Amino acid sequence: MRLDFIRQGRIGMEAELRSRQTNAQPEKKPERVDILGVGVDRVSMDDAIRRVRGFLSGNGPRMIVTADSAGVMITRKDPELLSIVRAADLVTPDSSGILMAAKLLGTPLIERVSGIDLAQEICRLCADVGLSIFFLGAAPGVAEAAAVNLTGKFPGLRIAGTHDGFFTDDTPVVEEIRRSGAAALFVAMGIPKQEKWIAAHLGELGVLVAIGIGGSFDVFSGNVRRAPAWMRNHGLEWLHRLISNPRKISKVAHLPRFALMALRERLISRKGREG
Ligand code: UDP
Repeated sequence: MRLDFIRQGRIGMEAELRSRQTNAQPEKKPERVDILGVGVDRVSMDDAIRRVRGFLSGNGPRMIVTADSAGVMITRKDPELLSIVRAADLVTPDSSGILMAAKLLGTPLIERVSGIDLAQEICRLCADVGLSIFFLGAAPGVAEAAAVNLTGKFPGLRIAGTHDGFFTDDTPVVEEIRRSGAAALFVAMGIPKQEKWIAAHLGELGVLVAIGIGGSFDVFSGNVRRAPAWMRNHGLEWLHRLISNPRKISKVAHLPRFALMALRERLISRKGREG
């Protein structure tokens, strides 16, 4: 009964979103650029927001992946993850390393569309039309703290529920999300766990869109500080992550190899053109 009520409310909001889009162009799929075997969409933040707005007014469920350099290296070696990323409805360029590699490979992307920024835009979008979001992931208490801070930042934002990311049985968690009536789902359990979890359950969650956002709840909750803007703008976010949490070394260790592989690909393609 309660679920019906929530769903009727949600359908009303989705209709409102749809009616706001009546003058919009039909949804066009962005070009997918190959970065060392992993497809990343050529989208600006505005394009990504438009896509998400389309997802929220559609019939769902859609999946968004945010790809950074370490993520590309992990994905290349994991066929299951690679097919999940290939099937994703939107793959955004999450790091400056991805932008640099794309430029080097002669297929430049537009700008960085990080998961942490896109998640906030989704909060803004949902608050604007009254749709709710479920927060799944991070240590116990962190998603709740993130929810409190984000509802302060985006007045009108409705959090359908929260759950930590350390559980052994998926079934009750899937059921909790489904019963919450959430339109969107943030999953912050790190790559590749979050992508595999979303892909395994997307059809049962009842959400219109789900996105994996790594350690973003730790930042939203105030437990972890995000790299300052100058570091982000100079491609040094990895250094900030490493200084704040030396255990991140395994992810950061992918970066030199990522850069070398991009350089090698560039040399090979140059030789191919010259020869
Ligand atoms: N995490 C989780 N469940 C797990 C493992 C990790 O919820 O089983 C959370 C962890 O607490 C952290 C996030 O996932 O909040 C991982 O963040 P990280 O920055 O490592 O992810 P990345 O963005 O590098 O993929």
